[in-house]
Amino acid sequence: MPTDRSLAAEAETMEIIDQHASIVETTAMDHNREGEIRKVLDADRDWLIDFVDIEELGSVTDNDEAWNTVVSELSQQGEEHLSDRLSSLKERAERPFPSLLKLEFEPEDGLEFVPGQYVRISYEDEEPRVYSIASSPNSTDVDLCIRRVPGGHLTPTLCDETVVGDDLFVRGPFGDEFTLTPPSDRDVIFIATGTGVAPFKSMIDYIFEENRDEYNGEKRDIWLFLGSSWKDHLPYREEFSEYTAEWENFHYVPTCSREEYLSEWAGETAYVQQTFLKYLDEQETAADSLPAEIAGWVRETPVYDINARIDPSSMEVYVCGIGAMANSVSDVVEQFNLPDNHYKKESYG
Ligand SMILES: Cc1cc2nc3c(=O)[nH]c(=O)nc-3n(C[C@H](O)[C@H](O)[C@H](O)COP(=O)(O)OP(=O)(O)OC[C@H]3O[C@@H](n4cnc5c(N)ncnc54)[C@H](O)[C@@H]3O)c2cc1C
Repeated sequence: MPTDRSLAAEAETMEIIDQHASIVETTAMDHNREGEIRKVLDADRDWLIDFVDIEELGSVTDNDEAWNTVVSELSQQGEEHLSDRLSSLKERAERPFPSLLKLEFEPEDGLEFVPGQYVRISYEDEEPRVYSIASSPNSTDVDLCIRRVPGGHLTPTLCDETVVGDDLFVRGPFGDEFTLTPPSDRDVIFIATGTGVAPFKSMIDYIFEENRDEYNGEKRDIWLFLGSSWKDHLPYREEFSEYTAEWENFHYVPTCSREEYLSEWAGETAYVQQTFLKYLDEQETAADSLPAEIAGWVRETPVYDINARIDPSSMEVYVCGIGAMANSVSDVVEQFNLPDNHYKKESYG
């Protein structure tokens, strides 16, 4: 199969079809960590007592009012880190499980698409919603990666009720702009938060299956920067770690902003766009011409021992995630004035 054809042109000609599909697998990708959080919070009582009279408040873990009082008391005392820690742990403990679902289905008539496209899903009587396809077009089954939106119409039902054998109604594929550009000598950089990685999972699988990581006989680097609050909210984390062992030109850089509140997290903790800056090649990046905050991140030492760096004049960048996050990422990427055809963004929510 030639690898230099335009996938965008192919996406434009894809026929949109309606069809039934059968669910073949549903897997929770996150963990139920409530017990773990309760243990951490019980241990926290030992130091909380230095700041707040928790004896008077009683149990902090089971009592909303007490918890809120402690959080605001800490904030008033200027203990923002401790206050953020407690409110983050509370929010996480209250998040229903599962909150991150891998939903795999087999379309009745098969589904032709190119990586980066999405489908509209109807389930029972709920309002339909669209989801990026996370599997490669070379797979028979189609994968979606779904995050529960508490109070939402469709995602709580998908997370709580779907079982193998259930019927879905699928319309698609849609989208002809968020596709891979033809291979070039540029390194490929994917930057995502949470389920924004779904189209990148499809693209990365496809790149390696179709040897699109090679140009004129030379390997190019494929980077994935993936951010979330908690490590178990990083979709496909095991798969991506395995890919790094399989392909030496694949570099996986997960970053979790809150995981250190709950476990020994030795990985990156900054926002995903700041983490990306740390892996730029300092020699090739004219840091002095960048705004001070951005230049500061370029000079930071990366946490992961990756034997490669990104030359910003030779990269193509894809960004995907929920609204504000995706916009913050693009504010950073746009500093590098990439040609339009080497920079693509998709945001939702
Ligand atoms: C091109 C495209 C691709 C998408 N791909 C994915 C994907 O791969 N995985 C995925 O989980 N979602 C994806 N979405 C989002 C998805 O279409 C739904 O919007 C989302 O699942 C919420 O549906 P719901 O019916 O549960 O919530 P709704 O009833 O639609 O929303 C309830 C409330 O939550 C807000 N909200 C909606 N979505 C989010 C969100 N993601 N985070 C926080 N608040 C939100 C809404 O503004 C609304 O106020 C994609 C959207 C687009 C446009």
